[in-house]
Amino acid sequence: MELRASREAKQVRPEMIIVPEDNLTVQELADMLRLESSEIIKSLFFKGITATVTQSLDLTTIETVAEEFGVPVLQDDIEEAATKTVDMIEKTDIDSLITRPPVVTVMGHVDHGKTSLLDSIRKSRIASGEAGGITQHIGAYQVEVKHESKTKKLTFLDTPGHAAFTAMRARGTKVTDIAVLVVAADDGVRPQTLEAISHARAAKVPIVVAINKIDKEGSSPDRVKQELSEKDLIAEDWGGDTVMVPVSAIKGQNIDKLLEMILLVSEVEDLQANPRRLAKGTVIEAHLDKAKGPVATLLIQNGTLRSGDVLAAGSVLGRIRAMVDEHGNRIKEAAPSFPVEALGFSEVPTAGDEFEVYTDEKSARMVVGERATDARATKLAQQMASRRVSLSSISNQVNEGELKELNLILKADVQGSVEAILGSLEQLPKNEVQVRVLFSAPGEITETDIDLAAASGSVIIGFNTSLASGAKRAADANDVDIREYEVIYKLLEDIQSAMEGLLEPDLVEEALGQAEVRATFAVGKGSIAGCYVSTGKLQRNCSLRVRRAGQVIYEGNLDSLKRSKDDVKDVNTGFECGIGCDKFSNWDEGDIIEAYKLVTKKRTLSTN
Ligand code: GDP
Repeated sequence: MELRASREAKQVRPEMIIVPEDNLTVQELADMLRLESSEIIKSLFFKGITATVTQSLDLTTIETVAEEFGVPVLQDDIEEAATKTVDMIEKTDIDSLITRPPVVTVMGHVDHGKTSLLDSIRKSRIASGEAGGITQHIGAYQVEVKHESKTKKLTFLDTPGHAAFTAMRARGTKVTDIAVLVVAADDGVRPQTLEAISHARAAKVPIVVAINKIDKEGSSPDRVKQELSEKDLIAEDWGGDTVMVPVSAIKGQNIDKLLEMILLVSEVEDLQANPRRLAKGTVIEAHLDKAKGPVATLLIQNGTLRSGDVLAAGSVLGRIRAMVDEHGNRIKEAAPSFPVEALGFSEVPTAGDEFEVYTDEKSARMVVGERATDARATKLAQQMASRRVSLSSISNQVNEGELKELNLILKADVQGSVEAILGSLEQLPKNEVQVRVLFSAPGEITETDIDLAAASGSVIIGFNTSLASGAKRAADANDVDIREYEVIYKLLEDIQSAMEGLLEPDLVEEALGQAEVRATFAVGKGSIAGCYVSTGKLQRNCSLRVRRAGQVIYEGNLDSLKRSKDDVKDVNTGFECGIGCDKFSNWDEGDIIEAYKLVTKKRTLSTN
């Protein structure tokens, strides 16, 4: 029964398709539209194009074909804005690449010493030989580290905590190359430690652990290692591959060692940029200064930023009037991974937005203008893109062989339930799809959970728990699917169904209109119904139901719709038209046609 339902679901056209920037083949387009490739080839043939299954189609052709089946097309660059992890390097950069310093974020549980560690690092190793000099907070700073007789730089983001980190990731920006996880040796692994691990893993960023407060009595670095090993972070001296450095932020103990280890980890990452091009990067912080106007800290991720450069930062235009480094020194140019505070924006840019320098103001203005108008479309596309991350849509993707991993965030009433559910999830057959629990903890479903879910494309599973205030709103805004359960068996059943691609999509019927058959015409082997639209409208390719004397005698697709002799897309109330169905021709005068659309609907909590 379920199998049949899923097969039928495949026949239903998607609400819209998002196509990549490079071309699609006929087969790929057919799969997206959930059609047989022969139907696409037929449609192309009638447009005068003879095509094979492997032939690539350009965007205009894709649009005309998809439109014929009533499916709008969106281009992938918009989807990218919603889901990408930024790739700042372009093909043209390849010949001029140099190693750039890593950008490091410090994360961990509250009071474990993130701020103290950032302060201690800043004080011990300020770049450009100004150790001891006064630094101002601009949201990021660089330090120099000696390693194998060479001096190398590291860039630290100066906003501890993962709120900023996740917010940026949720916007699709990836700035961090390495996450330093601070764990207090006298307190061990705590909820926010786990959260930080989840965030770093979701972003696929390597973790270096700083076991802090080793100066304190009662501190136990081994206990921290033990607890972390339970989370699959195993210290190198315990045979694992996670770098863990015991430090004291307050005493400045072992900070050099930590910096050196971060540098080593970054070398493996092979971070590169091309300094010989116009700059690109991300806005780290921004505010309005009463005297200076809009002020923004920019992190350069590729290229070199120069005073006087014209740039677009999100939808804000800028011409760099002045730049200062973290010591307040005026600088004329800034290289990759360098943070600068810049003046000269038309408005305050948004932290997390990307910026890019243009050769002339006109181009920058155009980009900014387009972005403002695109902002609405992007929001829609983001919603469409993230909407796919619901248990039922995942089921669909599994069906199509697209999805190999199901990301979950699990919140339950008590630790016992969490463990029981995790245990049962492990028992599920893993033929096609792997379940990845990015984060699990007892407690309410919070806004942070929603952030993580939005950033990582996860579904949130709640077991006998509730939503913290604000969480529902955040989930709605980000289109995050929250599934609440009271019995473990039901929870497992749903997840297993999703993994097997059998979960029924939530499709609801949306009535379009009604028409009455007034005459029938034989055409070839088939027959066309001459109709009068009495209410609403009819649309080509919508679904229809034919009733005779109240009984449904046929359900299927409205395959052809004509006014006079012309094919049309829709016909409104009060007009006559001709209707043809490929699989039905037994029309009779007086038949009533009910036209409707099937639309995918997100499951709400009440229907779970
Ligand atoms: P954050 O909330 O993670 O930023 O933690 P803070 O940096 O604000 O530190 C929290 C508390 O722990 C402060 O009272 C610090 O003085 C203290 N602390 C931080 N690092 C150390 C350390 O290495 N040793 C000791 N004894 N105390 C520390």
